[in-house]
Amino acid sequence: MSRPVSLDPLFRSLRSIKGVGPQLAALLTRFFGAPDGQEAIALDLLMHMPSGIVDRRKMVGIAETWFGGVVTLKIHIDRHLPPPRGKPHIPHRVFAHDETGEIQLVFFRAQGNWVERALPVGEERYVSGKVDFFNGEKQITHPDYIVEPDKFASLPLVEPVYPLTQGLSSKALTKLTRQVLETLPALPEWMPPPTLQKFSWPDFRAAMRAVHVPETPEAADVAGPARMRLAYDEYFAGQLALLLVRSELIAPRGISRTFTGQITSAVEAALPFSLTEGQRQAIADVRADLAAPERMSRLLQGDVGSGKTVVALMAMAAMAESGGQSSLMAPTELLAAQHFRTLKPLADAAGLGIVLLTGKQGAAERRAALAGVASGETGIVVGTHALFQSGVEFHNLGLTVVDEQHRFGVHQRLALSEKGRHTDLLVMTATPIPRTLVLTHFGDMAVSVLREKPKGRQPIDTAVVSIRDYDRVVARLKTRIDEGAQAFWVCPLVEESEILDVVAAEDRFAELKKVFGDQVAMVHGRMSGPAKQAVMDAFIANETKVLVATTVIEVGVDVPNASIMIIEHAERFGLAQLHQLRGRVGRGSNRSACLLLYKDPLSETAKARLEVIKSTEDGFLIAEKDLELRGQGDVLGTRQSGMPGYHLAVPDVHRHLLEFAHDDAKAALAANPGLVGDRGEALRTLLYVFRKDTAIQLIRAG
Ligand code: ADP
Ligand code: MG
Repeated sequence: MSRPVSLDPLFRSLRSIKGVGPQLAALLTRFFGAPDGQEAIALDLLMHMPSGIVDRRKMVGIAETWFGGVVTLKIHIDRHLPPPRGKPHIPHRVFAHDETGEIQLVFFRAQGNWVERALPVGEERYVSGKVDFFNGEKQITHPDYIVEPDKFASLPLVEPVYPLTQGLSSKALTKLTRQVLETLPALPEWMPPPTLQKFSWPDFRAAMRAVHVPETPEAADVAGPARMRLAYDEYFAGQLALLLVRSELIAPRGISRTFTGQITSAVEAALPFSLTEGQRQAIADVRADLAAPERMSRLLQGDVGSGKTVVALMAMAAMAESGGQSSLMAPTELLAAQHFRTLKPLADAAGLGIVLLTGKQGAAERRAALAGVASGETGIVVGTHALFQSGVEFHNLGLTVVDEQHRFGVHQRLALSEKGRHTDLLVMTATPIPRTLVLTHFGDMAVSVLREKPKGRQPIDTAVVSIRDYDRVVARLKTRIDEGAQAFWVCPLVEESEILDVVAAEDRFAELKKVFGDQVAMVHGRMSGPAKQAVMDAFIANETKVLVATTVIEVGVDVPNASIMIIEHAERFGLAQLHQLRGRVGRGSNRSACLLLYKDPLSETAKARLEVIKSTEDGFLIAEKDLELRGQGDVLGTRQSGMPGYHLAVPDVHRHLLEFAHDDAKAALAANPGLVGDRGEALRTLLYVFRKDTAIQLIRAG
């Protein structure tokens, strides 16, 4: 199904717009971040929302103007004072007046004599701009607009202001956007009639006009009807696309699984502990999904240390009972190796074949591993996301488990990949996600939550200490190490630069070596996989006692004997991150401690943030605070993973519309799964406008 022709004007290159040459086109393409090799198009301009409004409707006399105010004046031009010859840094001044007072217009580095021509002595002009003072005189520096008295109508009295980049003026963007608006066709109404009636919003074209060419500042207000409509549209398109992906790729072609009970009971019998109620429930959820004819798409949400791995294992064991293989994808090699170590003895006890794929395996070893996978002998394959992407032949892959920790995005690519099409999907995450965010990022994914921690967990003593107490901290650490404890010492992200990170960690490592000698080791992100693994192995084997690390250990390392976590420059970390890091200790039977080292001076908010960590171990509560303090993009880590956000919807203002959009999308697809007829065409138009059209390609012909 190809793009409706009515949309052609929106998909033309910006170079076809008057006033856009190759240079500006290139700038705009960079600015709008068009996908690789593609140019910015007219639609990009339309979707670029103003960040504010300039109101030039204040028509006052010069005497009534005020400092910093944006005003429109009707003035009489009296005389020009160009800069003296050879002194181009002195501005060109124009003196003018009205009945109430005098004002100067100021121009720096004015080329040629355009100022004289624009403001002829003895004539009247409307000028609009911001008033300031110089030596006690009123002036407007570089007025935004100068128009002749009979052209007053061309002066935009209410003007949108756009987020800008170097080399692009808001005025230029306004001009271009207006041209695009003129060619914007009337589009078929995609909004379901009940929603349209309920909110009585303008149609899409009228809403775009209200936002880009507002008649009043209120018309473009982010909480006004026009922006509401557009935000809804964006959510609606997003939900429609997610649901299409799900209904076309994930749900159909599922297999009703039946279980013999043999492998799962053997695994459970081999566990050194009994399952928590939450784990039992989550396992039951998964089994019900596997037994149902639809494809499973489930999110397993549970705080650090809540025991998600066992749930995954029980799911994979159930899959093996019904003759299917499973893959477990971890974000890093370290974590994959750790999962393998945890799972191997349990799988062995149940006679369930399991292998680890790593990037550093020898060719023969890898061949042997892959042979077992291809023959079906191996029931569980553990590896990194990247490794699976490089292609693994399965005999009969039935279940994919993705351990995302708190880095999101992988499951989406997966859902679209060939592999995702044929398997049930279980995504594990440590970040508590509010329902609106689940909808946004996962569409209709079912959710299981592990709320309680496994029994026997000791609370962690958390203290906030200044780095000035370094000597005392190290002395105390020495005592604890001599008593048999192990500790993590985490060095922070320095200015987002991994290299500087490593330098900081190396300095600390050298310092600590003076005290701990060979008992201290270091691991960081720039080490090779095997080197990292060797350091980790020595730490796990309790050969080294203090592990200096950059945040690489954040992602899920399990060393039960480690009972001390020291985080240097804790004030630089996000709350969720601190919580994740602290979750690395408190896993064994020893009482654990977490030391948040900060550098003075500490701001009040920074202090308050550290207090949050000190006062609670409840990941949900911390996530809420984090959401408050930093905004959701950071909490989900989506900024790093480069997942596109919303352009029109502002979650803080429009979030409530997401539920409507979700319900509407669900109903629309249920009524018209093939998007056929006029209604279907309207919905397809919507998907194209919001560039979700890849979802359209998924609809099977017929
Ligand atoms: P996460 O949810 O962070 O992935 P893990 O699955 O790594 O948590 O589990 C954390 C630790 O808790 C592991 O050492 C694991 O063996 C242990 N554990 C898991 N479930 C239980 C349980 N029901 N009782 C006691 N310990 C458990
Ligand atoms: Mg885990």
